[in-house]
Amino acid sequence: MTTTVVKRLPAENGVSGWVAISKRTFPVRSLEGNINADWLIIGAGFAGLSAARRLTQVRPGDKIVVLDAREVAINTAGRNSGFMIDVPHNLSSGEYASNSADATKVEMAQNRFAIGFAADIAEEFSMSAETFNRSGKINAAATERGMKLNRSFGQSLKSNGEPHRFLDAAEMRELTGTSYYQGGLFTPGAVTIQPADYIRGLASGLASKVDIFENSPVTALKHEDGNWTALSHRGSVTAPKVILGVNGHVEDFGHFTRRLMHIFAYASMTAPFPADDHGRRVSGQNRWALLPADAMGATIRKFTSEGQSRIAIRTKYTYETTITASASRMEKMANAHRRSFDARFPGLQQLPFEYSWSGRLCLSLNHVPAFGEIEEGLYSACCENGLGTVKSTLAGVMAVDLATGNNSPELARFMDNPLPSKLPPEPFAWLGINSVIRYQELRAGREG
Ligand SMILES: Cc1cc2nc3c(=O)[nH]c(=O)nc-3n(C[C@H](O)[C@H](O)[C@H](O)COP(=O)(O)OP(=O)(O)OC[C@H]3O[C@@H](n4cnc5c(N)ncnc54)[C@H](O)[C@@H]3O)c2cc1C
Repeated sequence: MTTTVVKRLPAENGVSGWVAISKRTFPVRSLEGNINADWLIIGAGFAGLSAARRLTQVRPGDKIVVLDAREVAINTAGRNSGFMIDVPHNLSSGEYASNSADATKVEMAQNRFAIGFAADIAEEFSMSAETFNRSGKINAAATERGMKLNRSFGQSLKSNGEPHRFLDAAEMRELTGTSYYQGGLFTPGAVTIQPADYIRGLASGLASKVDIFENSPVTALKHEDGNWTALSHRGSVTAPKVILGVNGHVEDFGHFTRRLMHIFAYASMTAPFPADDHGRRVSGQNRWALLPADAMGATIRKFTSEGQSRIAIRTKYTYETTITASASRMEKMANAHRRSFDARFPGLQQLPFEYSWSGRLCLSLNHVPAFGEIEEGLYSACCENGLGTVKSTLAGVMAVDLATGNNSPELARFMDNPLPSKLPPEPFAWLGINSVIRYQELRAGREG
């Protein structure tokens, strides 16, 4: 028998605006007592719930249990900017594409597979256009460097036959109400989600076929006689097969140690403001979604519902060895959001931020997932390299295909990766990674 004690449990900084404005429609159930299942999934984010969904499709009738340490959407799955991106987007290189043309084609096919999987979920579980929107996205450029990056991204899209359209400064102004941007590059394949609504909608849609227990952290994992037993505060689940959808927390389960970078991303959301003539004059149309032309810049979305608009901004990253960021770091980041926001929307400088928060991403130095059967019957669908709305969705599906022996072409491609590379020891990793991030953010300049 082996027992692994889970080293650290999830914790969060701040309340995500997406969660705060999302309405939860189903009861919270926590694990009480000891139960058996055919499948245990640990983590109810994009990876874990996508794995659960896939299992309901390929193993109908099996007993599937999902455990999460927190309520659904409270952790990173409900803290992101909601861009499901099909075309390349590579955070760890600080650029959008770090791969060869062939690898980029594979990546786009994988991203589209994941978006298609999510689209089926959105349709079957009757998600609204506010929750799942085939909006496309714009890479917005505020500097000459950003314009150059967009031109070169446009070239690579063109040579791959990918549809795209450039927007000039006047079109950007018409859309966003600000003259901050010199231009933009629109690609139609991206989807924008309200992340908390999507994850909650997925959990509630699965609830008739899957037992989802929240506030039920897995504190230890035992392996005995071909079965895994996950221990929680008030109960346990025993199953022959377990899928870990815990992202960077896989390291706390004793796997991929010193191979994963825990990067914090920071975001803020404004208070609501009326979608009237003034609102439109200072911030443009009712709904738009911008990624930065320089990957290290700011992601900004405006959305409007029932006559009220809000703007959400995400900018700045740090690498941390702790589970949460310090209060002073959070304050510094909220101030940085304010500066970025005010520079773009001078007509909204009096508008307060209602929510500021952070969340933890998992990146590997060589941009690969922490994926596979890591012990007999134990599967990892972790380390999303920053784009987990699609990549963790895909990883969850692929983990089920691997665990059920469905040797699809998608799985063969997904398995064709080395292990995440080793990181240097601390404090060198902390110093080195934060220096690279800082350099890339300085280089991004007004894009951030
Ligand atoms: C500010 C911000 C903006 C972002 N913007 C985007 C974006 O626009 N597009 C995009 O694609 N991605 C974005 N991301 C990243 C995205 O949110 C993540 O990639 C995604 O949430 C990863 O999904 P996941 O299922 O792998 O992991 P998570 O969503 O982190 O889910 C893992 C789950 O495991 C649970 N867990 C961990 N340990 C345990 C345990 N011991 N027991 C039980 N449960 C446990 C956690 O509580 C959590 O719910 C952003 C992230 C942040 C913070």
